[in-house]
Amino acid sequence: MSQATPQAVLKGQPGQTSASNHRGPLSEVLQKYWGYDRFRPQQLDAMQAVMSDQDSVVVFPTGGGKSLCFQAPAVCREGLAIVISPLISLMKDQVDALQACGIKSAFWNSSLSAEDEAIVLEQIRSGDLQLLYLAPERLLTDRTEQLLGTVKIAFFAIDEAHCVSQWGHDFRPEYRGLAVLKSKYRGVAIHAYTATATEQVRIDIAEQLQLSNPKILIGSMDRPNLNYQIRRREKGIGQIVDVVNRFKDESGIVYCISRKNVESTCSALCSLGFNALPYHAGMSSDDRKANQDSFLLEDAKIIVATVAFGMGIDKSNVRYVIHTGMPKSLEAYQQESGRAGRDGLDSECWMFYTGGDLVTWKRLIEQSQSGPACDSAVASLSAVSDFCNGIVCRHVALAAHFGETLVSENCGACDVCLNELDQVDEPLVLAQKIVSCVYRVEQRFGAEYVAQVLVGSREKRILQNQHDQLSTYGLLQSEDKRDIRDWIEQLVSQKFLFKSGEYNVVAISELGSELLRGEATPRLLRARPKSQSSSAKSTASWEGVDRELFEVLRVRRTAEAAQRNVPAYVVFSDASLRDMARRRPSTIEAFRLVNGVGQQKQDDYGEIFLELIKGHCESANLEQDVDFVATKVPVAASSLTASSAASFEHFDAGLSVKEVAKRLGRATSTTRGYLTDYIRHKKVTEPERWVDAGTIEKVSKVVEQIGAGPLKPYYLALDEKISYDDIRVVVECRKNVSA
Ligand code: ADP
Ligand code: ZN
Repeated sequence: MSQATPQAVLKGQPGQTSASNHRGPLSEVLQKYWGYDRFRPQQLDAMQAVMSDQDSVVVFPTGGGKSLCFQAPAVCREGLAIVISPLISLMKDQVDALQACGIKSAFWNSSLSAEDEAIVLEQIRSGDLQLLYLAPERLLTDRTEQLLGTVKIAFFAIDEAHCVSQWGHDFRPEYRGLAVLKSKYRGVAIHAYTATATEQVRIDIAEQLQLSNPKILIGSMDRPNLNYQIRRREKGIGQIVDVVNRFKDESGIVYCISRKNVESTCSALCSLGFNALPYHAGMSSDDRKANQDSFLLEDAKIIVATVAFGMGIDKSNVRYVIHTGMPKSLEAYQQESGRAGRDGLDSECWMFYTGGDLVTWKRLIEQSQSGPACDSAVASLSAVSDFCNGIVCRHVALAAHFGETLVSENCGACDVCLNELDQVDEPLVLAQKIVSCVYRVEQRFGAEYVAQVLVGSREKRILQNQHDQLSTYGLLQSEDKRDIRDWIEQLVSQKFLFKSGEYNVVAISELGSELLRGEATPRLLRARPKSQSSSAKSTASWEGVDRELFEVLRVRRTAEAAQRNVPAYVVFSDASLRDMARRRPSTIEAFRLVNGVGQQKQDDYGEIFLELIKGHCESANLEQDVDFVATKVPVAASSLTASSAASFEHFDAGLSVKEVAKRLGRATSTTRGYLTDYIRHKKVTEPERWVDAGTIEKVSKVVEQIGAGPLKPYYLALDEKISYDDIRVVVECRKNVSA
């Protein structure tokens, strides 16, 4: 799947476009009703299209803030904004959230009782509404047309607009009917919103809806607040429990491939005392709905589910998503993992996989599909496998899959960048041993077998084949067989080896032959011993938050939500509660400054929450009215790992990178990462300890010429003669001088 040059439309800075005449009312509305100070990237551009009646297609990732793009203009403009949405459950949540902010909105669908319907119709007639949510089939009835003919329509917003395209993954025939909107409601602009659209789907959306000269806005699909952690799966549910345990009172989704896995994982979690519920297509729809509701209302903290779960869930405070097996495509992964952290707060996405997952998916796909569809589904699987075994930044790899180039030296939010994975010191030699072994067994065996030969297993089959006689037998006997399996997969992912045939026989590619001749070098990673693997959790968004107070506020939020029969996040988002527990306001004016507190929420909850805050601060002897300014923690410092911190005393003592690597038993490459952390953290300004004076001078010169930015341009300007390592040290130290 590819998207055509999103960069062309991507770089727009919000708030700097020509139509700034609307800036006033929009930003006022944002503050007054939502209590937000700033627009997210490109939100303002999208809103301005709505304000100026230019049709638009807006593609932002999940959680990118699409809803606000039509909601805020709906509040600013005269007339009724009509929102088309495919899911009844989603409509209710959105309307609940709008009403909680004091915005006049309603939905009209089959779930309404006759009485409620009459009220809504009256609201429409009287011109009393700002937003109306409708299902597409409802919009196209004569009755609706008659009714809408009598009111002024501000614009149409089509949510989940990819449903209109049969190229999309979720085509809905009833969306096709929307094609008549343009001719039926002449002069009314149409705006389409989706999180997932390839270029083909985007064009199709514009054509199907007959948009005229639409403004196309494509946001970066990257989700910087998500921390991707990919690990090989171990037996049992220990890995899952490790994650869940760190998020005791917070919500998370655990995805399993099969219903059977859902059942067993869920009951294992429950027997350990976790509050988990299952969800899969084998359950009755009543049971499914009950479990989903209880997850939304936060009676249950964890939902264990197949991929059947999630469409139409816009719970904003899901703090983690765990995949207990490989997803079936990277598109699916993007969607499923994307359900974490919609509120923009740091959240974690874990995946525990084994090679066997590929076989499982292949079987499932072959059961349900055939022909080209089946082939393309199988091809998607190999992209997943390459992603899992890949060793480039996960954010970069995912973005690349969607045709976007991210420039990031260290994202600070994935296992690769956080050094959760350790590079092998001499990857070429190690890889040559492995590839030679593949050659010695005549490229006729699978990965497991090759690994067994390399560790020197006494397995019967190996002895029968007389492979204990090979020169490569036992060549890696000091290594763990599972590490060897990982390396084989990594070599496959980097195209030195490939698998073929029904039995996944491992064979050597052209590139693999170059490797044997020493002409190409791979990168190989060693999974860190478990005890040392730090949970890569950034603490920045908890900065200054009194956790006890946060708990107190959370409990109250749950109670308030239950009383109003709305999801907890409709009352306040996690981001708002944290900000409250950090500023600890004592007056209603100070309360209003909390992120996400608009006029309505101030009126509805101000007193109750102020009292709670006061009570807690008195008993805990805490200062109130803290004027909070987030300290700008550089990414790498906020996410320092334990081993990285351990390196500091050695650097302090003046040891070289090599020496520190030896002391810590880490690869030199990994230790260089620690050095970067050290320089940033200790604000070191002098690179002389690591780089000679001549080099420093050369690097400084090109940095001054080129200006701040990624390292590659410096490297090229220096004729590729100075290593990235040296350039990085100089650049990092320079940053501290100017800081
Ligand atoms: P999407 O529809 O793109 O998945 P939403 O519109 O549901 O995303 O927004 C995700 C979350 O981000 C919501 O909780 C929303 O209130 C919040 N949000 C949106 N825009 C802003 C903003 N400018 N500032 C702060 N929070 C925002
Ligand atoms: Zn990364």
